[in-house]
Order: sequence, then structure tokens, then C-alpha cells
Amino acid sequence: MSKDALTIDAVMGTYNRFPITLTRGEGSYVTDSNGCRYLDYTSGIATCNLGHRPAQVQAALSAQLDALWHVSNLYHIEPQQALAEALVSQTCFDQVFFGNSGAEANEGAIKLARRYQQIVKGNKRFEVVTFNQSFHGRTLATLSATGQTKIQEGFEPKMPGFRYVAYNDQAALNDLIHDDTAAVMLELVQGEGGVIPADQAWVSDVVKRCQDAGVLVIVDEIQTGVGRTGTLYCYQQYGFEPDILTSAKGLGSGLPIGAVLAKHAVATAFSPGTHGSTFGGNPLVTTAGLATLKVITATGFLTEVQQKAARFNQGLQSLQKKYAAIQSVRGKGFLIGLELSTQAIDYVNRAREKYQLLLVVAGPQVLRILPPLNTTEEEMASALQAIDDLFAEMQMQQ
Ligand SMILES: *Cc1c(COP(=O)(O)O)cnc(C)c1O
Repeated sequence: MSKDALTIDAVMGTYNRFPITLTRGEGSYVTDSNGCRYLDYTSGIATCNLGHRPAQVQAALSAQLDALWHVSNLYHIEPQQALAEALVSQTCFDQVFFGNSGAEANEGAIKLARRYQQIVKGNKRFEVVTFNQSFHGRTLATLSATGQTKIQEGFEPKMPGFRYVAYNDQAALNDLIHDDTAAVMLELVQGEGGVIPADQAWVSDVVKRCQDAGVLVIVDEIQTGVGRTGTLYCYQQYGFEPDILTSAKGLGSGLPIGAVLAKHAVATAFSPGTHGSTFGGNPLVTTAGLATLKVITATGFLTEVQQKAARFNQGLQSLQKKYAAIQSVRGKGFLIGLELSTQAIDYVNRAREKYQLLLVVAGPQVLRILPPLNTTEEEMASALQAIDDLFAEMQMQQ
């Protein structure tokens, strides 16, 4: 068979890409290869939480580019140590393991929970309970952890050791924990599953049942973390302390990094030689992470995010009253979902083509809006105006 370079894309077709190529980014804006400028309210899917090329991160990275790129974890790494200490000082956790992505962080968390139960506690527990419509990643273990059959289709057999329970469902909690259960893993706002926040009372019940049974609580904060919901991590709004937390997306301002944060008693299960990652916590990505965290935890930054997000949400609530197509506005902070009565992708396409506003979906009927945390009042006003005009136009066409 001959290769037909003209008709076969050299990049595998795992993504349905929009027909534009983005070549530059600055703050809340990106520019495509035709010079067209867009307001980017996708933030690289909750990754560029400080917008594109934030000055503080760029400066730190430039200095690190001149010093050291990679050495492996056979040696101590200054920015890795500093980022771990910064994360620990801002959270209830004691120790951090670094990997390269969200899925890798969740893999690490699952391994850590099993090993803690089996080696530290000396029991045979292995099962990790997750929730319907959850999303935990695309590797074999994390797609098995994901409570959506469409993510698993064609990759059977699933990895054993996962069980799914209904989300936000008090009655289902009677079946939450079995004798084999090692951990419960949950998103405090289901991101890919449709921007669905967990109910406070339900979370408290989940946590209490786990604590009573010696089952670990893992929060997957890969999308909700790094200020996205108005606090550094979302669990800080729910009044409990998880045993393990996974972070990725926003942590590196666009550089690939993942992290497993854990309480010391749990973290001890990872003794030398039990887990690893060649690139994990490398000097460049942890420099980006440290600079990002410095901005987000600076005095007043997150308070301002909460206030801006509240005003932006009020604007969206007003649009909900105006347009029947918007069924509800939900989420937390700057992780926002508009539940629609029709296909959300049509709105994403029109917003990009006519209003130069980039949005993303979360499931077929949810329009997801992810502004950079440092977006300005002017940018929020222009986004609200564009969304208003967009819904007016789409309503006319129906
Ligand atoms: C994006 C995401 C993941 C997977 O992260 P990758 O970096 O794509 O592997 C896992 N969990 C949640 C909640 C996510 O939003």
C-alpha cells in the first residue's frame, strides 16, 4: 500500500478540531494563522488560568531556560522542592509527587491508595469507587475509573477494581463502601460530565462514611484546582480534608505538569522504588508551576476572582431569564456551564465564527465557559455582550 500524504493527516484523528490554527497568545486573547483575534474563554480547557504567556511565569521560565532544563529525579531539583513546599503550605497536605498530566496524577493517586491499604494498613482492599458521569482520564486505569461508557468503548476489558455510584445521590450512598473498598474518588464539580457541582450535604456524607470505614477520600481537582473555582482548591469550600488530591491542568500555566498531594500517613506508602516518572517535576515545568502559584496565592488575587466570577455569573443569570434556550447556569467560580435545550456545539461554532469568542462544550447540551482568572471587567462585558447577541441570533433562526 502506498502512502497518500495529501489525504491522510499525519496527526491521528483523536480530536475533532475546529477549522482554525492558533499561532499566538497574549493575556485573554489568541490570534489565528489568518490574523484573526479571539477572546479565549476556554483557557486551553482550564489550563491557562492566568491567560496566555503571563509575564511572571514567562520571566521565571526565561531565567530557568538559561539555567537547567532536565536532570531526572536521581537528583534534587530546586524548583520542584519549592513548588512542593508552596503546595503543602497552601493546603492540608504534607507531601507531593509530580508527574506530567492529569491522567498520570490520577494513576498515581489510585496506586497510592491501593498501596497504602495493602502495605501500610496491611489489608486486602483494592477497589476505587467513582461516580456516574465522572471523568478521570484516558489511560487504561483512568478510563476504567471514568463513569462514562463512551470513554471505555472498544478498549475492553476495563481494568478491574472500579465501581460506579450515582453522583449527588444520597440514597445511593448505602452502597458506597464494600469490604474491598480502598478509596472513593470524586470531582467536586464534574467538569467533562456537564459542569455539575457536588452538593455540600452529600459530600459531607461521603466523607463521613469513608472516614468511619477507613476508606481514603481522593479528590480529582485536575479541572477545579489552581483557583478555577475561586479558592486555590475546591475542597477548601467544602469544609473537609481529603486524604489525596490530584492537580494538573492549571498548575503549569500551559506547561505539562501533574501532581498528587497526600497526607503524610498516606504518602509514606510510596517508598523509594515504588513509583516514578522520568520527566515528573522537571525544572522547567515546576518553575512554571511555582510562578503560577505565586500569582494565584498573592494577597487579594482569589478574592478578586470570586468577585469577578460572581458578577459574570449574575450577567449570565440575566441572560437565562431572557433566552428560553438557557435552562440553567451552574458551576463554581470561573468553571461555568450553561445547560441548553439544544446542541451546545452550534453555539460554540457561531460564537467563534461571528463573535470571535472561544467557548467549549461539556457534553452535548452544556456550553462551558472558562475565562482566565485574571480576565478584565472589559473582557467580561464584551463576552457577555457577545453571548447575548449570540443567543438573540440563534433564537431568531428557530
Ligand atoms: C482533564 C481531566 C483529567 C485528565 O487530565 P489529562 O491531563 O488530560 O490527562 C482528569 N480528571 C479531570 C477532572 C479532568 O478535567
